[in-house]
Amino acid sequence: MNADTINLLTKKALKGDVNSLKEVIKFLKGYNAPIAKFAIYSIIYQFAMNNIIDLANECKTCGGKCCKLGLPVPVYHYDYEEMQRHLRIKLERKNGLYLLPRPCKFQKDWMCSINSFKPYACLSYPFATEDEQIEVIKNYNGNGVPDFQVPEFCLAGAKVKKFLNSLIENLKREKRTEPDPEEIIDVLLKVKQQ
Ligand code: SF4
Ligand code: SF4
Repeated sequence: MNADTINLLTKKALKGDVNSLKEVIKFLKGYNAPIAKFAIYSIIYQFAMNNIIDLANECKTCGGKCCKLGLPVPVYHYDYEEMQRHLRIKLERKNGLYLLPRPCKFQKDWMCSINSFKPYACLSYPFATEDEQIEVIKNYNGNGVPDFQVPEFCLAGAKVKKFLNSLIENLKREKRTEPDPEEIIDVLLKVKQQ
């Protein structure tokens, strides 16, 4: 799979498509390297953030700082094409990426007004494999759950990290070994059904 295919599949997974999620994980498991294992955990945390855990109160309390603060949001060409199917939009392009300035004009109150077609970078926040996690990736040796760094203001990210760290720790205790990503996903899907 090339980078675009894997990114598109991951984007579909982060929007809630479980088959795409399992396919991405299967692909990444083929690489026996800490960075691939980091990516697997990162995608599982992102999936839970977007699809499993109710974060409305946390984001409302925060006021939507992730859409207000920081450098422009990177927008890949496939994000841009998807956005253009819904909106008239023209973004600056730099080094092969389109840039969505922050504060983001699509934020209404604390919420995203283009939730169903927002860019991949917005779906992966704050557990992306770049930005907040660069130092974590450098220090990750492939053992267990990475110690994801979540900005202090991101109450939602902190809730997801706490929830998943505890869920994985419980599974580990039951099984006496590190759980497979698929087992973590199965438990997450049961949580969603409750
Ligand atoms: S994701 Fe985090 S930073 Fe963004 S609005 Fe929610 S709590 Fe705030
Ligand atoms: S597109 Fe939506 S989620 Fe992304 S920065 Fe803008 S308002 Fe926030």
